[in-house]
Amino acid sequence: MDVRRAEYIWIDGTTPTAKLRSKTKIIPLDEDPPIWGFDGSSTNQAPGNRSDCVLRPVFNCPDPTRKDPNGLLVMTEVLLPEMTPHSTNTRAACEAASKTYAEMETVFGIEQEYTFFRGMRPLGFPEHGFPPPQGGYYCGVGADEVFGRDAVEAHLDACLRAGLKIFGINAEVMPGQWEFQIGTLPALDVSDQLWVARWLLYRVSEEFGINATLYPKPARGDWNGAGAHTNFSTRKMRSSYEACIDAAEALGKTHDLHIENYGFGIEERLTGLHETSSYKEFRYGVSDRGASIRIPWQVEVEGRGYIEDRRPNANMDPYVVTRLILETIGTHSKIAA
Ligand code: ADP
Ligand code: MN
Ligand code: MN
Ligand code: MN
Repeated sequence: MDVRRAEYIWIDGTTPTAKLRSKTKIIPLDEDPPIWGFDGSSTNQAPGNRSDCVLRPVFNCPDPTRKDPNGLLVMTEVLLPEMTPHSTNTRAACEAASKTYAEMETVFGIEQEYTFFRGMRPLGFPEHGFPPPQGGYYCGVGADEVFGRDAVEAHLDACLRAGLKIFGINAEVMPGQWEFQIGTLPALDVSDQLWVARWLLYRVSEEFGINATLYPKPARGDWNGAGAHTNFSTRKMRSSYEACIDAAEALGKTHDLHIENYGFGIEERLTGLHETSSYKEFRYGVSDRGASIRIPWQVEVEGRGYIEDRRPNANMDPYVVTRLILETIGTHSKIAA
């Protein structure tokens, strides 16, 4: 019988930040990945006496990590046995908002920052003391400036072979810190693909004996945190500068709600230093990397485009962040929606 390996990926119930889990199902080559299940009592998703949870496939792509030429990565959502969304399933609400606000034609591009660790230390941090201060690492070149490039390149290859819509990669401001971008895509697609790209990041890092973390403030002190800048545009924003400004104004109306849902530990990262705006205030500005919302300079020049929400943490849930943006723009903007 012709079969293939399907790696089912899901988001667990760990708090305050959920983790990814996955396991393998061998399926007939000519069949789509079916609904499957798992033991929710081992993932903080169910009590032991009612442990069964359901995995429903929502997105799949070629698996670049296996020799199996027909291997699949299967992103799933978690359901209860009665086939309703599990309480940890944040995708269902994102799907509902995507439908409600479909006519806005919103698309997103998410910049995922992360930090490699070897053992207890960020890659590039010496055993004792600290590396030279920040300044030369961002988009650097040379063994004294960048750490982990082999793994970063392997991850980029994996994303491309999986067919993900990866936009680019760059070395970040702190040693061992990097970024990749997913998009531009609608809310559900950018989120499904970002979760798969995160899974690939962890999986590829195994081969290099290092681990990637999305922790928002991986090194205390004068070191940049890790964010997930979320760029977005509605159809109207893509043809009007006024609509871009209006969208930024709308986000100011629900600032606290977004901060509360933009990832655990956001107060540690959004201090007002290190290219952030304090979580306590809301500000937008052209080219301003110290603002909550940045309007890229080309957008002002061209009089249309998109805006960048700089507040989300690296450890945010893209289903939650994109849903909140859809809802806020949909209800509070006059022009952008
Ligand atoms: P930065 O200058 O902040 O580092 P990046 O180059 O890392 O920006 O990422 C820019 C992101 O903006 C990409 O993810 C891209 O998909 C996204 N983007 C570009 N144009 C649009 C648009 N019109 N609507 C939404 N997102 C966009
Ligand atoms: Mn970037
Ligand atoms: Mn960045
Ligand atoms: Mn950015």
